[in-house]
Amino acid sequence: MENNIQAIERSAFKDIEAVDSFEKLELLEIRYLGRKGLLTAFLRNIAQLPVEERPDAGKNANLLKNRLEKAFRELSKKLKSSRDLKGGGVDVTLPGRTFFRGSLHPVTKISREISDIFSRLGFEIAEGPEVETDYYNFEALNIPKYHPARDMQDTFYVAENIVLRTHTSPTQPRVMEKRKPPVRIVAPGKVYRCDSDLTHTPMFHQVEGLMVDRRVSFGDLKGTLTTFVHQLFDEEISLRFRPSFFPFTEPSAEVDIQCVMCRGKGCRVCSKTGWLEVLGSGMVHPAVFENVGYDTQIYSGFAFGMGIERLAMLKYGIDDLRKFFENDMRFLGQF
Ligand SMILES: [Zn+2]
Repeated sequence: MENNIQAIERSAFKDIEAVDSFEKLELLEIRYLGRKGLLTAFLRNIAQLPVEERPDAGKNANLLKNRLEKAFRELSKKLKSSRDLKGGGVDVTLPGRTFFRGSLHPVTKISREISDIFSRLGFEIAEGPEVETDYYNFEALNIPKYHPARDMQDTFYVAENIVLRTHTSPTQPRVMEKRKPPVRIVAPGKVYRCDSDLTHTPMFHQVEGLMVDRRVSFGDLKGTLTTFVHQLFDEEISLRFRPSFFPFTEPSAEVDIQCVMCRGKGCRVCSKTGWLEVLGSGMVHPAVFENVGYDTQIYSGFAFGMGIERLAMLKYGIDDLRKFFENDMRFLGQF
C-alpha cells in the first residue's frame, strides 16, 4: 500500500515538471485530483484495506493531496507570470506615453540669460527685499521727500515708510553698505507700481547693475552695455546714448538700441523711429556714495536698470505685455 502512494507521488511530480501550458496543467489536475483521479481513487479504496493499515494510508494520501494542490497552485502562478512576460498582458511594442514637461516662464528664461551674460563679465548676482523701507527705495538713492517719483500715485505704501519697492535700485545701497569696492553686481527681481494698462502691469521685473571701483569711467559703462546688448541680441545692433536725468546718477543716459524688428528701417514696434528705448544708466551720483560711506575722491561707478519684460518682448517677438501674466499654457508652452 505504501508503495502505491509513493508511486502516485513520483509520477505526479514527474508530470508536473513537464507542464508548460494551462491546458496540460488542467489535464494533470484531473488525472490526479479529479473525480476519477488516481489519488481520489486511492482514497476511495482505503475502506478495502486491512483495518491496521487504514489510518496511515489515509493520513499519507491526504498529505499528498495537500502537496499536489499546492504544487498545482504554484505552477499556475508561474505559468501566468511567464505569459505576462512574453507579452500576453503587456504589448512591449506600444510607443511610450509622453510625459508633460514644464518649461521656464519667458521672464525667468531671459532673466537667467541676462544674469549669465553679466556673470561672464565678472558681475555677481545680488538680491534685495521686495518690501522695502522708504530709506532704501528713495532716500539712499538721492530721491528726497518732495520728488515726484515718490507720489502716492506711483508707489504702493505698505505702511508709513514701508513700500513695495518701485525699482531694483535699493539693492545698490544695500550691497554697498555691506562691503567696500570693488563692487560688481546685477540684481534681477520683481518691482511694483500703481499702474495698469496695455503697456503697464502693477508688478513687473527689472534688472539692476552696479559697478564701483577706482577709475570707473563712462567708457566702461558704454563698453559693458554694448557687450551686453550684442550678446543678448546680436553683434549688428547699434546703441545710442541720450542725455537724461535720474536722481541717483550724474551724468545720466537713456540707452536706445536699433530696432530689433526692422533693423532701424522703422516699424510699428519702434513707432517708425528705428530705435527702441531699453534702459536707463549713468555714473553713480556722489550723494549715493556719501550715503553708504564711499570716498568719492577715490571711487567712481556706473549703474543701469532695465525692464525684463520689455527685453523679453523684443527678444521673443511678443506684442502684448499682459501675455506674461495670463498663465495661458498655449503661450507659455512655446518657451
Ligand atoms: Zn522697428
